[in-house]
Amino acid sequence: MNRADFPILSEKVYNRELVYLDNAATTQKPQVVLDAMMYGYTHFNANIHRGVHYLSQVATAHHEEARERVARFIGARSGKEIIFTKGTTDSINMLAYSFGEAEVREGDEIIVSYLEHHSNIVPWQMLCERKKAILKVIPLKEDLTIDVEAFRALLSDRTRLVSIAQVSNVLGTLNPIEAIIRIAHERHVPVCIDGAQSAPHMKIDVQELDCDFFVCSAHKMYAPTGLGVLYGKEQWLQSLPPAEGGGEMIEHVRFEHTTYNTLPYKFEAGTPDFIGTYALAAALDYLDGIGMDKIREHERELTRYCEEQLAGIPEVVVYAAGQDKYGAVSFNVRSERVIHPFDVGTLLDHQGIAVRTGHHCAEPLIDYLGVPGTVRVSFGLYNEKEDVDRFVEALKKAIGMLE
Ligand code: PLP
Repeated sequence: MNRADFPILSEKVYNRELVYLDNAATTQKPQVVLDAMMYGYTHFNANIHRGVHYLSQVATAHHEEARERVARFIGARSGKEIIFTKGTTDSINMLAYSFGEAEVREGDEIIVSYLEHHSNIVPWQMLCERKKAILKVIPLKEDLTIDVEAFRALLSDRTRLVSIAQVSNVLGTLNPIEAIIRIAHERHVPVCIDGAQSAPHMKIDVQELDCDFFVCSAHKMYAPTGLGVLYGKEQWLQSLPPAEGGGEMIEHVRFEHTTYNTLPYKFEAGTPDFIGTYALAAALDYLDGIGMDKIREHERELTRYCEEQLAGIPEVVVYAAGQDKYGAVSFNVRSERVIHPFDVGTLLDHQGIAVRTGHHCAEPLIDYLGVPGTVRVSFGLYNEKEDVDRFVEALKKAIGMLE
């Protein structure tokens, strides 16, 4: 779908046509996004918010329009609820610091799940160390799905927040976040959704989900790197303290006392990536132009097709096999032992197939699977069944060489 919009996809690697199947790590950029970056630097590059001059006003207007664009894309009530960050990791760290300062005391509890990315574990762990709080972990069922009943039992009067991925970056599976949010809210516990692997693949509506916080990364959504979003319900963001100090987040600074800016600026210290936000808005226009539902169905179909093809290779073990997947499929090759995923990945690479191997920043899940890592293929909107065919053919060749 729309492959011709992405210049990098015509690059050759090792003199072969590139098959890019590492989209969960980062996506390639369409020409409209590259053009937007060039346009920004060519036509309105000036620091935002602080200038009375023309270029600064144009840059500010674009940046604030981009904020409204993001709000519409994820269904937020307004741009006040959209904080621009450096990425999902930065968003979660900011939230962990800010929420932790205001809401977490010794003995309180934070809940994450077993299949989280390190970005949704370590910031909470650091908070718990700082505050002498306790990190609790939702276990998985045998089929690697989230154990919702176990989650219900983990909630207590000391639970302050639940943070969980919508889509697993390793398994590609969709977590039952509607149930998690409903059950948490019955106990008045707020929920943060890590949308790094869902926002690129499906329509997000934070109001319908009723999550309290939602985080995602622009670079996984066909937009520039170094940029992300922290969505928070306005009443939460109003009540939380800033995570970082500096320019723009202030109202007045005196050595005796500083007062803070209104939302969303209170959380945005320093010069933001205003060219990046302009290009992000172009990426979101591009995605909506295709249609997120169409993208979701296209990628679901690709993962289904990929699993069907992998099922025909006896040495391949797919994790969470048979479950609906949103963009990613993880597997290993076993003959007498698990062949190290790095070896499989390297042999695929030499045939022009880019996949990711290793622990995918989810070591607890990989330990749980009892393997050194997995090979992960992950799809973007531009992948087609022919990419799967070339990957499967290359994989069969690699297995032949490894056995
Ligand atoms: N959360 C999930 C589920 C992810 O897949 C990733 C990246 O792969 C992250 C968080 C971290 O995103 P970033 O590195 O863009 O901050």
